[in-house]
Order: sequence, then structure tokens, then C-alpha cells
Amino acid sequence: MKMNALSRWLIVSIPLILLPVILWFVLPQPRAAVYGLYRDRGRSSVLTSLKGYEKLSGKYVDVYFMEKDKTVAGWVLETTESVYQPVTQQVGYTPTDRVPVIIYPDRDELRQAFGWGNGESAMGVYWSGTVRLLSPNVWISEKRDRDKRSVFDKLNPIAHELTHYMLDYRTNGNYPRWFTEGLAQRVEYALTGYLWIESDSSLDQDLYSLDDLSGQFDNLTNQPLAYRQSFLLVDYIAQTYGEDAMTGLVNHLSDGVKFEAAVSRMTGRSMPDIYENWLDWVDKHRTDLEAAG
Ligand SMILES: [Zn+2]
Repeated sequence: MKMNALSRWLIVSIPLILLPVILWFVLPQPRAAVYGLYRDRGRSSVLTSLKGYEKLSGKYVDVYFMEKDKTVAGWVLETTESVYQPVTQQVGYTPTDRVPVIIYPDRDELRQAFGWGNGESAMGVYWSGTVRLLSPNVWISEKRDRDKRSVFDKLNPIAHELTHYMLDYRTNGNYPRWFTEGLAQRVEYALTGYLWIESDSSLDQDLYSLDDLSGQFDNLTNQPLAYRQSFLLVDYIAQTYGEDAMTGLVNHLSDGVKFEAAVSRMTGRSMPDIYENWLDWVDKHRTDLEAAG
């Protein structure tokens, strides 16, 4: 019996260990292939682990939800389907698979699924090939469906999370965290008019350096500021070098070109230079930018 268990383990494990190694040597973009492999394994394991969830399918997406969230699941499906095409246009990528959107009934379920600590809370997250949302029934206090729906329409993070999804599949993870957060907010702002600005994200304080944003985004204590800087930096690149430069940048990322090299190919400047110019631009426009909040 012992040998059988060992042989079974070897039969299952060896291909899992060897496949990434084989892909690494055989494929033109090995890092991307291995990244995609692990992402898709994560995605199917999370979908198969959903117990007691129902599924609502549209043209492009599948929404997974618990019975008590049936009404909001309809809203999520409708909204996701309606922003799907505009987001694909913004990111320049049309998924080959249906997009799985999971509605978790409470914060604990979302945290467990995502591995967050107790302090964290959010309305949504893109993770491992899936869009994961906290049930709007948790974050909207309005009781009547009509009122609840209007808050949902204004504040839902679907366009934002869908942008993360598209960029991740388009480039197989080839981007710094601040760039995907900046792009997601820019697409969200263009499509819904929502921008996350609060007193903590005021530009009238010490700003994070490019190294801070690039190297330790999730550990930065002032997350509203990190998100605001990301949005403004991406928006600055698009406004200064043009939408075509932004499209070209994403194209290069999708071809496996490293972020810094992709930026200098499309703008003729290095990312640290652009960041310095951006700081000057923020200084010059601080009053207008603060008023926008
Ligand atoms: Zn985000």
C-alpha cells in the first residue's frame, strides 16, 4: 500500500513539477507560459472549491453567488456584461474564456478565499484569473432595492477589477503593481466617473518614490495615496505621450518586454525621468488636482 501511495504521488507530482520546466525551455516566452499555467490552475481550483454557490451566465461572464445574493447577482451580471466591451477596447484584449466573477457573501469568506489578514477589507479584488467581489448586500446599507441599486451603480468596482483581469491575461503578469492599479482606475474613471480620492490621498504631503511604488506597493501604509499616485502617473503618461504610447506600452508588455524597456521604447524617456517630470507636473497643478477631489 505504501508503494502504491508513493507511485500515485509520483505520477501526479512529476508532471506538475516537470511541465513548467519543459515549458521554460520550449516556449518563446517561458515566464509568461509558466505564469499563465499557475494562474489558470489557481482559477480552476478556486472555482471547484465553491460549495453551495449558484451560477448565472451571460454572454461573456459567469457570476457565482449564494442564494441570499440572487438579486445583486443579477445586477453584477448586467453591469459586468455592459462594461465588458469598453474594457476590452481600453486594454486591447478580448478574453478567450468566460470571465468568472465570484460574489462572496461576507468579508470572512472573501478574506479566506484571498488569504487576507483581518485588517483588510475591500469591495473587490482581481486574483488568479477570477474577479472576486464582496456582496453589495454587505457594503450597501440602503434597505430598499431601488436605493441599493443606485449606490451599486455609482460605487461598484467591476470596471476596475475587469481591467486588472484583461491586463493580466494580455501580459501574463508582466507589469508593476502600480501600473495595473493606475490603469484600472483610469478605465474605471473613464467608464463610470468614479475616482478614489480622500483626505489621506492629498498631494500636499511627502509622496512615495518610484521605488516605493514599484517595489513594495502592498506594504505602503497610506494606500489611498499609493492608489492616487498610480492613477495620476498612468494618466500623466497617457496625456504627455499620447494614447498610442499607452497602447504601444501594453503591446510591448504583452510581447514580454520588461516594463522599464517598454516605457523607454514608447516615450524615449526612462521611467525614473518620467517620474521626476511627473513630480514637477504635480507641483505645478497641485491646486487643480486637489480641487478635483
Ligand atoms: Zn485594483
